[in-house]
Amino acid sequence: MVEILTAEEFEFMKASGDILKEVFRTLDKEIRPGMTTYDVDKIAHDIITGRGAIPSFLNYGEPPFPGSICASVNEEVVHGIPSKKRILRDGDIISVDVGAILEGYHSDACRTYLVGDVKQEVRDLVDRTKQSFFEGLKYAKAGMRTGDIGHAVQEYCEGFGYGVVRELTGHGIGTSLHQDPEVLNYGKAGHGYKLKAGMAICIEPMITLGRKEIEMLSDGWTVVTRDGLPAAHYENTILITEEGPVMTTYEEEN
Ligand code: MG
Repeated sequence: MVEILTAEEFEFMKASGDILKEVFRTLDKEIRPGMTTYDVDKIAHDIITGRGAIPSFLNYGEPPFPGSICASVNEEVVHGIPSKKRILRDGDIISVDVGAILEGYHSDACRTYLVGDVKQEVRDLVDRTKQSFFEGLKYAKAGMRTGDIGHAVQEYCEGFGYGVVRELTGHGIGTSLHQDPEVLNYGKAGHGYKLKAGMAICIEPMITLGRKEIEMLSDGWTVVTRDGLPAAHYENTILITEEGPVMTTYEEEN
């Protein structure tokens, strides 16, 4: 089902998104070598609950996801489980994917952070994954199609020889975390679901330094690159308005 939200509901979406802005602003200052992914989770959890919201990911799915964030380090693409045993080292990257529900409205976003001194080729991957989101965002307008977004992301990333993960996609969002339409990170311009004002979607490129193939670890959640090379992830919640896209989870510095 594709949900069409009212102007009033868009205000609730913005209030929900504001919480994730605060999470990212804080993590931007706090993430450093020696922290565990549990520590990162706790910071996000405390901000979300401190603002009267519920972490969307906590207990989501089957087996129930045990964290408030997905903390995916290096070759982990998505859905890494926060752990007191996973210590961030100098040169790592960590994707922090986080969601919040406020007054029944979800927001969902991800940033990939650099931990200490990261190799240039991996920094480039992180920067270009973010830029690929903005390439897709150009098409997040009423009358455009999801295929226009996917095509823009794919063309930009494959131009650098990166892998575009196929099995995981962006999605609609609103009173549920994941809903129609699927927003693929690849595809044909002019194809897919036609966007309408009132929709909210997440564009979330998951891009690999090497090959695009992924596999799932035995914990039932963590998705890694099959070749063991790093992956980056970037996401925002976007409102489709008559005046163009409005990101609820983005501010300039992040
Ligand atoms: Mg998402």
